[in-house]
Amino acid sequence: MNPRTLIIGSGLAGITLVRELRKLDKEREIIVITADDGGFYSKPNLSNAFAANKRPEDMVLTPADKLERDLGILIMANAAVARIDAGRREVVCTQGTLAYDQLVLAVGAAQIPLPLAGDGVPDAISINSLADYARLRSRLAGKRSVAIVGAGLIGCEFANDLRLGDFAVDVYDQIEQPMGRLLPPVAAQQLRDKLAAIGVGFHLGARLEAIRRDGERYVLIDSHGNARPYDLVLSAIGLRPNLALAKTAGLATALGIVTDAFLRTSDPNIYALGDCVELGGLFLPYVMPIMLGAKKLAGTLTGKPEPVSYPAMPIVLKTPACPTVVSPPPSPVGHWDATVSEDGLRALFVDQASGQPSGFVVQGGFTRERMALAAAMPNLSA
Ligand SMILES: Cc1cc2nc3c(=O)[nH]c(=O)nc-3n(C[C@H](O)[C@H](O)[C@H](O)COP(=O)(O)OP(=O)(O)OC[C@H]3O[C@@H](n4cnc5c(N)ncnc54)[C@H](O)[C@@H]3O)c2cc1C
Repeated sequence: MNPRTLIIGSGLAGITLVRELRKLDKEREIIVITADDGGFYSKPNLSNAFAANKRPEDMVLTPADKLERDLGILIMANAAVARIDAGRREVVCTQGTLAYDQLVLAVGAAQIPLPLAGDGVPDAISINSLADYARLRSRLAGKRSVAIVGAGLIGCEFANDLRLGDFAVDVYDQIEQPMGRLLPPVAAQQLRDKLAAIGVGFHLGARLEAIRRDGERYVLIDSHGNARPYDLVLSAIGLRPNLALAKTAGLATALGIVTDAFLRTSDPNIYALGDCVELGGLFLPYVMPIMLGAKKLAGTLTGKPEPVSYPAMPIVLKTPACPTVVSPPPSPVGHWDATVSEDGLRALFVDQASGQPSGFVVQGGFTRERMALAAAMPNLSA
């Protein structure tokens, strides 16, 4: 009998999986249910689209109807799934109840709500979808200044992009450096200096307390009592996997939906892929784990199971002011050895147990070395 594979989510994870499945099986019934309109776009491009003056409609790579025709699938768009009945192998969505043989959760992650006081908090905007980007563009029309809360990867990318788009941009973070989770201080300082050189302001090391409305503007108040006004507040404090659906099915969850190396959840007929997954304690909300995982999961779903193992997966920052590539080490126990020159920076993380390099950061001209360095790094997971 032709099995029915039901995929919830039409982001990079859902659609890449469909593409990989179709390479192995032209016949099986595949249905994608998605809360958005089902058009395929590149989410990483959202944080360098503003300076390039890209309209949201320019960013759709493949509309849903073309995906359906090209891939021989059904996309149920604008249909939010409310619940999974794992015992009956059914999902309940706004358009009815659907049965499945295999279910894949590709439901992504959501922005962590800003833990701040004040009547301006609900107006802060975060960018995690094309619809968010469309909202950002319309809210910024005729405005001048933006405060970005969160100096992580997404915050720094938007700071660079909006600055190139000629906005006054200030970045806030409670820790003392940008990209505190991914970069050693020496590389973070380079990034900060280069962004500052194009006019990005930084307010680091002070906890924000509140966002208050002041007419059309928003005033950010920090723990030192500083109050600064902006036209718009962009929140970039991080993502949290969407777990609500998994919980309706009673699946094991921790930070993400817990899977084994085959991306199988605690229910043998339900799998997970993408930003919603936690595999071996790792939450990796990036493109490369999705591309690798989709290939392996397609094999598993078509009867040729192969475990996922992650090689070193360098992350490229879209900060043209300071080209940066970082490959995080598998274990944080060790130290950074950095070389800084006029050409940029190369920092190697030396693992304490093995004494060998296990992660790196390259900036400026040293980014040329990224492929060679990545090839010399150990795997992120077994
Ligand atoms: C601004 C930005 C820049 C980035 N830049 C980079 C980069 O340079 N490099 C990199 O590696 N990564 C980058 N990333 C991360 C990367 O884009 C993500 O890892 C990837 O797009 C996640 O894809 P996904 O399919 O798992 O999730 P999503 O794209 O979030 O898709 C989730 C899908 O699930 C659907 N859904 C959720 N709940 C339900 C429900 N109940 N019912 C029905 N449908 C539901 C949604 O509608 C959506 O279709 C960036 C992310 C952002 C936000």
